[in-house]
Amino acid sequence: MSQQAADEKLELLQHTMMNWWVQEHFDYPWRDSSEPDWKRLITEVLLQRTNAAAVKRLYVDFFFKYPTAESLASAPVEEVEQAIHSLGLRWRAQYLPGLASNIADGVPDSSDELMKLPGVGPYVTGAFMVLHRNTSSTFVDANVVRLLGRYLGFEWDGETRRKKWLLDHVDALFSHGYTPSEFGYALLDFSREVCGRAPQCQSCEARTQCAYFATLEANNRALAQDNS
Ligand code: SF4
Repeated sequence: MSQQAADEKLELLQHTMMNWWVQEHFDYPWRDSSEPDWKRLITEVLLQRTNAAAVKRLYVDFFFKYPTAESLASAPVEEVEQAIHSLGLRWRAQYLPGLASNIADGVPDSSDELMKLPGVGPYVTGAFMVLHRNTSSTFVDANVVRLLGRYLGFEWDGETRRKKWLLDHVDALFSHGYTPSEFGYALLDFSREVCGRAPQCQSCEARTQCAYFATLEANNRALAQDNS
């Protein structure tokens, strides 16, 4: 599919996600704008490749244990590892004290500066800039790749998110007229709740242009013919 054709299709997906999202309420505590920046950046690191519900379960205890960036900065890595062990990916613990130390006096406003922080890569940088700085950046995780793969009709694997053509689709997905942070939250929530492991296609308004749904329908028709 050409990028132009993909761009046109993506308009319906953008609209569908926002329509759905304004009626849903996911009150994750880190989305509260009164939370300090350092907590929100640390949380984005915890959310990377991790189920949001699992982070929500840990959130209160973790920040009760580390109520300030300084307290996390001075914590032994083994202790932090223990504190986040329920999330998996315990290797992240080695970066958290150093990251907390770097942002105790404030979180940078630019992607370039964020990328220099320990444990902060392209996903966390993009997510922080979109969700917490409300800027027109992008982010891509496994759920976003799956959503685009199903909707536009391409095969994907663990390496797909690094491909230039995929990043072009991501840029197109993030080209919209909505408030960046709201669109970012809608994308995270929609790709997890509606187009998740078991996609809810019948309730998805984007199904009229979705490649996955078209295949599903074609298979169902073929099955019905075989059984008639
Ligand atoms: S129709 Fe189904 S597969 Fe396509 S975007 Fe919607 S939920 Fe995902």
